Amino acid sequence: MNRSFIPGVGRWISLLAAGLSLLALPGAAFAKVNIVATTTDLMDIARSIGGNKVDVTVLSRGVDNPHAVEPRPSQVIKLTQAALLLRIGMDLDMWVDSLIDAARNGNIARGGKGYVDCSTGIKRLEIPTERVDASMGDIHIYGNPHYWLDPLNGKIIARNILNALQRVDPSNAESYAANFREYARTLDQKADAWERQLAPFKGAKIVTYHKSLIYFLKRFGFVQFGEVEPKPGIKPSPSHVNQLIREMKSGGAKVIMMEPFYEKRYPDLIARETGAKVAVVPPSVNSMKGIDTYIEVMDAIVSRVAEALK
Ligand SMILES: [Zn+2]
Repeated sequence: MNRSFIPGVGRWISLLAAGLSLLALPGAAFAKVNIVATTTDLMDIARSIGGNKVDVTVLSRGVDNPHAVEPRPSQVIKLTQAALLLRIGMDLDMWVDSLIDAARNGNIARGGKGYVDCSTGIKRLEIPTERVDASMGDIHIYGNPHYWLDPLNGKIIARNILNALQRVDPSNAESYAANFREYARTLDQKADAWERQLAPFKGAKIVTYHKSLIYFLKRFGFVQFGEVEPKPGIKPSPSHVNQLIREMKSGGAKVIMMEPFYEKRYPDLIARETGAKVAVVPPSVNSMKGIDTYIEVMDAIVSRVAEALK
């Protein structure tokens, strides 16, 4: 049956459509805030602050080296629909910039209401004081970007996310604030417990594979003794490894920390030569089995380092 033959049906349909859209309105008020995060740690913290009022998707996997994520064109669609984009910033997740450009979503473009550089307010370490050039490896001109591995920086990240959520969804501002207070309180308590757990080892000299743990080491009073990489992002060379072995023997460094996505053979070789222990630590949520939250990341790093220093 063709509706144009029945007078009044067209009007009926538009009335029905108007009624449906009225019905849809209250639903829209409950729509979740669409958040896209570049890393799993930001994803987890955003879920803690946003609770059931947000939907969070993540653009990388915990097992990825966050410097070297290959963005996929299919991820652009997520950004076109996003109200918030959360990034680590400081050049770590530069790979998201091409996705932001392609999405043409003013909310999450740099300077937009929903663009959140989570490094805002972080006390940055290792800002280069000299001219940076390619011979220095993957030097980050804004400083070392691995700041989320200091648990108290996790609180700053959470506050940046809180501010952004209150900006784009003011009707739920108080709920976000309550979640933040709870999360910050938990982090403070945890940080005290981690501090106590690591206190007996204060001052220990620690070698890391990549220079990714300086915020962690500084927070808990350790000394960054050296790196398995000769320069950030550059594969170990035999001469560098031999020199590191000599230095560790004379300097008394007994622990090598590394992320699971690096090759273990160099740390293992160094450990054999020096008697040091290798601690494989999860740098991010979902980077290792059973590590499903940011707090579990920190818990695991602390207990693995404590175990290796015993
Ligand atoms: Zn790095």
